[in-house]
Amino acid sequence: MASREEQEAIREAIRKICAGFPDAYWREIDAAGEYPQAFVKELTASGYLAALIPEEYGGAGLGLMEASIILEEINRSPGNGLACHAQMYTMGTLLKHGSVDQKRRYLPGIASGELRLQAFAVTEPNAGSETTKIETRAERKGDKYIVNGQKIFISRVKQSDLMLLLARTTPYADLKDKTQGLSVFLVDMRDIKGKLDVQPLDMMFNHHTNILFFENVEVPAENLVGTEGMGFRHIIDGWNAERILIASEAIGDGRWFVDKGAKYASERVVFGRPIGANQGVQFPLARAYAHVEAADRMRNDAAEKFDRGEKCGAEANMAKLLASEAAWEAANACIDAHGGYGFAREFDVERKFRETRLYMTAPINNNLVLAFLGQNVLGMPKSY
Ligand SMILES: Cc1cc2nc3c(=O)[nH]c(=O)nc-3n(C[C@H](O)[C@H](O)[C@H](O)COP(=O)(O)OP(=O)(O)OC[C@H]3O[C@@H](n4cnc5c(N)ncnc54)[C@H](O)[C@@H]3O)c2cc1C
Repeated sequence: MASREEQEAIREAIRKICAGFPDAYWREIDAAGEYPQAFVKELTASGYLAALIPEEYGGAGLGLMEASIILEEINRSPGNGLACHAQMYTMGTLLKHGSVDQKRRYLPGIASGELRLQAFAVTEPNAGSETTKIETRAERKGDKYIVNGQKIFISRVKQSDLMLLLARTTPYADLKDKTQGLSVFLVDMRDIKGKLDVQPLDMMFNHHTNILFFENVEVPAENLVGTEGMGFRHIIDGWNAERILIASEAIGDGRWFVDKGAKYASERVVFGRPIGANQGVQFPLARAYAHVEAADRMRNDAAEKFDRGEKCGAEANMAKLLASEAAWEAANACIDAHGGYGFAREFDVERKFRETRLYMTAPINNNLVLAFLGQNVLGMPKSY
């Protein structure tokens, strides 16, 4: 793990990069529904997006705590890490379960940004949160798998060269252990241009999310990642890291809202005094601040345990829950403090408000986080 000084240096470096992408940049990108290419390009060039890729594959070889700081600082700026965070951690499945050949073939390109692996296709319309019920089928035919099926809410497909795909290799009915029978594939989308139907979804905020239709899409057998049938287990291995990183983005948002709200409330004068002197405005911001700071401590605990190789499922889930709720609380306190201006696009509060709501829902809903805590940590009966 990097020293406190090194972590502060990373924080400062990210702040410097983000300073080049002010409110207006993100506001215009949002209004136009565009992808923040210039920002992602600069972040990639800085090497920080390759924080978690080991140095032997051209990455920065940093820990999860450092990666958390990077994403937190992006969201603490007017920007949003959602646009590119997947480039940082989707490769985790490849790193942990991929063959040496796959790692040598893909990781250096992902580290340099020459290859974008920003899409992870899991969710399906009929399965929803019940991942073990997905239906998209990958059938082995000689040295290929033939993929047929449908995915929904798959982000950044058009901004990626590679996509990790979870598909069914054994029919559900044939399984004794229902968590088996799924497999992970690294799909090179440059090879299947025109064969994968990608339909953009119109979402609440600028998120490049799609419905995917696979019709006889061919994936070379050598692109199977890990063991056939063990794909669900392979992706679960990445969940703690993902939850800690998502918590970090929410903490960044929470800090942005609290700072923005407190500043505005200190300056705006109504009834002859700054509105922030009124407890109805001041206390919600102070309360949200306390909750963001508490989430930060839980995130740090989770990330440090992760980096020490210790069990951190409870802490990672609690960090995700607390941070996403604290960010949403801060978003509401901030929009309330801004009165009507909170709804005006030029103040950026409404944009961040729309963006931060996602953290309670995706990549996993807080209900399922609570179910993990209730069932796996507290030992209560299972709902599924
Ligand atoms: C902007 C955005 C981007 C996304 N990007 C991706 C992506 O890149 N790749 C990808 O694979 N997916 C992605 N997702 C999908 C996201 O992970 C799913 O929305 C999520 O997994 C839930 O599936 P669902 O939407 O079908 O909800 P459902 O499973 O239908 O759940 C609906 C509600 O019921 C609750 N619920 C269900 N079962 C239980 C239970 N047993 N106990 C308590 N509550 C329960 C849920 O918590 C939720 O509140 C994205 C979603 C969004 C909104």
